[in-house]
Amino acid sequence: MTHPTAAATATFSRTRDLFDLPEGVIYLDGNSLGALPRGVKARMAEVVATQWGEGLIRSWNTHDWIDLPGRVGNRVARLIGAAPGTVTVADSTSINLFKVLVTALRLRPGRKVILSEKHNFPTDAYIAAGVAELLGAGHELRLVEAAELSGAIDEDVAVLMLTEVNYRTGARHDMAALTRAAQAAGALTIWDLCHSAGAVPVDLGGAGADFAVGCGYKYLNGGPGAPAFVYVAPDHLEGLSQPLTGWLGHAAPFSFAETYRPAEGIAAMRVGTPPILSMSALDAALDVFEGVDLGEVKAQADRLFERFTGIVAEEAPELVLATPVDPSKRGTQVSLRHPEAYAVMQALIARGVIGDFREPDIMRFGLTPLYVGLDDVERAARILGEVIRAGAWDRPEFRQRAKVV
Ligand SMILES: *Cc1c(COP(=O)(O)O)cnc(C)c1O
Repeated sequence: MTHPTAAATATFSRTRDLFDLPEGVIYLDGNSLGALPRGVKARMAEVVATQWGEGLIRSWNTHDWIDLPGRVGNRVARLIGAAPGTVTVADSTSINLFKVLVTALRLRPGRKVILSEKHNFPTDAYIAAGVAELLGAGHELRLVEAAELSGAIDEDVAVLMLTEVNYRTGARHDMAALTRAAQAAGALTIWDLCHSAGAVPVDLGGAGADFAVGCGYKYLNGGPGAPAFVYVAPDHLEGLSQPLTGWLGHAAPFSFAETYRPAEGIAAMRVGTPPILSMSALDAALDVFEGVDLGEVKAQADRLFERFTGIVAEEAPELVLATPVDPSKRGTQVSLRHPEAYAVMQALIARGVIGDFREPDIMRFGLTPLYVGLDDVERAARILGEVIRAGAWDRPEFRQRAKVV
């Protein structure tokens, strides 16, 4: 294992101090809900008391609320290898996926296949199936195993729609290679970056990806239900139109014109009034990434991965690693299989180690170097070993499923 450089150690001890985590908790669930950056608290207090409380409706102009989606979009753009003016923050990932999928299908009118992979995050497949049905034009969602993707790209494929890092296993696709293959066959690509943005270096521009969407509340730490982002490649920005033709995607919303005319550029991806409170929280959360290189984040996450899985292999050898060992083929989570994964995870949470469970038998541990250190993962792995060895998970209360897992 490579040791952290002095620069990495300094970077991550600085970022760790930017977060508020409860005493006694090792938080390994930033892949599901990022931790609270301290600066968000102060920003929320200011936005609520001053911008809203005192500025009232004037703040749309005086605090430039109206352009907040594009401003925050540009900050996200830097983290995903996108040029300024190609990303806006809006809506949820599911809704953004709907918008870009319809847009992409309309750009490939003769083709009927949306190609994706089995075991993708369900919302992606649900939205695609819904779009196919809504369009009523004979579109088909074709789902294949990850290994069969490149072979399945043919002249019928309109769109290759993939999640770069798999939510369940943490396996990562080769975005550049798959984008090339899809485009060589005349198809467009949509990348879901929910488990990539803020976790690994992403280069949408370099890969030549056509569209991308992603989440604000996972590795970007924007808070529960934070608005999502949407990327459109420069080539597709001209004349861009999308199906949710709301007034804030209009070229001149305050002309209150009778007919819709899309805004120029990425602003056409907007739909309705932006959620200023949660968008401000996301904006403040992104301060944490200032001066942070995502290559360093991934390298440090790889060190956390090695330390964690090394100890688990010794202390709980019956757990099966579901995440690729090759660092270039994974994101920054560790997934472990156990037949009673849900109960084991509940026993861990009761001991202050917070990860989560995914059907049918996966325990997920998010390794987020911004606020998780080598000492944390070492302790977490030892506690996991104890829980497994002692069978401490085998209690009725740990089998009780909550509404949200
Ligand atoms: C978390 C996640 C989503 C979430 O979509 P929402 O609309 O924000 O609920 C979508 N896709 C993937 C791959 C995810 O991991």
